Amino acid sequence: MSQPYNRVFNFSAGPCTLPVEVLESAKEDLLNYKGTGMSVMEMSHRSKPFEKILAETEADLRTLLSIPDNYKVLFLQGGASLQFSMIPLSFLAAGQTAEYLVTGAWGEKALEAANLVGSTKVVFDGKGDNFRAAPDFGTLDLSADAAYVHFTSNETIQGVEFFADPTTAAPLVCDMSSDILSRSVDVSKYALIYAGAQKNMGPAGATVVIAREDFIAKGPGKMHPILDYKLHAKNSSMYNTPPCWTIYMCGLVYKHLLATGGLEGSNKRNTEKANTIYQAIDSSGGFYNGHAEPSARSIMNVTFTLPSEELTSAFVKESESLNMDGLKGHRSVGGIRASIYNAFPLEGCQVLASFMADFAAKNG
Ligand SMILES: *Cc1c(COP(=O)(O)O)cnc(C)c1O
Repeated sequence: MSQPYNRVFNFSAGPCTLPVEVLESAKEDLLNYKGTGMSVMEMSHRSKPFEKILAETEADLRTLLSIPDNYKVLFLQGGASLQFSMIPLSFLAAGQTAEYLVTGAWGEKALEAANLVGSTKVVFDGKGDNFRAAPDFGTLDLSADAAYVHFTSNETIQGVEFFADPTTAAPLVCDMSSDILSRSVDVSKYALIYAGAQKNMGPAGATVVIAREDFIAKGPGKMHPILDYKLHAKNSSMYNTPPCWTIYMCGLVYKHLLATGGLEGSNKRNTEKANTIYQAIDSSGGFYNGHAEPSARSIMNVTFTLPSEELTSAFVKESESLNMDGLKGHRSVGGIRASIYNAFPLEGCQVLASFMADFAAKNG
């Protein structure tokens, strides 16, 4: 069946698919936003209409995630990658140690940046196992005096996800770039959460930071202004020109989520979508092999391999002729990666699952 506007099933890992309703709203407003005579892209970030967009976007995110009042919400730039550096630059002082869980490629990058700043301790490293597992925090040797504990709730490349909010004595910092808003989280367990917009929230260009005020206050007295959480918080994300268009698009996505059952609705849809594909893997009699351990299987990035490189290439090629785009896995894992973020439709997962069964029957 053909999709609206002849769109494909876009399995891209990021930037990735957005809700059609959101794109239609943006299109509607593109040349003249609500009678202002200009688009949001052309508008001063100090104008009344943009101030309203920013305030509503923040308020809607607070509602979706039930963010407590003693947390700041910031819209920054530099991607999640800049957070890899800003976090240790602000919170890893001399004489302290930060603890890192490394469950995949993004956690590794976060650790590398912290190593440039100060002392770190790796409390879990999944590398020996090619990153398949998400450990139970209760089994880790964590110190209450750590500057912070950092983990990646969903490893986008390996498809390894944590499903519970851990409890730690030291401040907890989490990269939620690829699973934020896919389910509810207890924000009060975290000192700082960050997420690039381009997986579950909007186009690229903004990074959302949700941080407890007393944790922000621990930052150093002197910091380069653009890297200073305190300054960004004091200026409510308006220290310099914020990524206005991305913030506006995130705002539309938040409103769409609120109108479709909030995070409970999103979790229900995402679980059903992921199960549809995992079911196709598990019922293939070993033709497809899931990369992640079953308990850590991501509901955002489903990763699996086929018996050979040739079959993998043929799989990708045939899937493209069936309107599916972006299924080739990351080179470090090989095989197939189906990224099925919030906005990805169930129908696309069903089309993939039935193609998987046909392909296995023909080639198995
Ligand atoms: C994509 C991604 C990043 C990198 O985000 P940028 O915005 O490109 O810097 C970091 N962490 C995770 C978990 C990601 O999925």
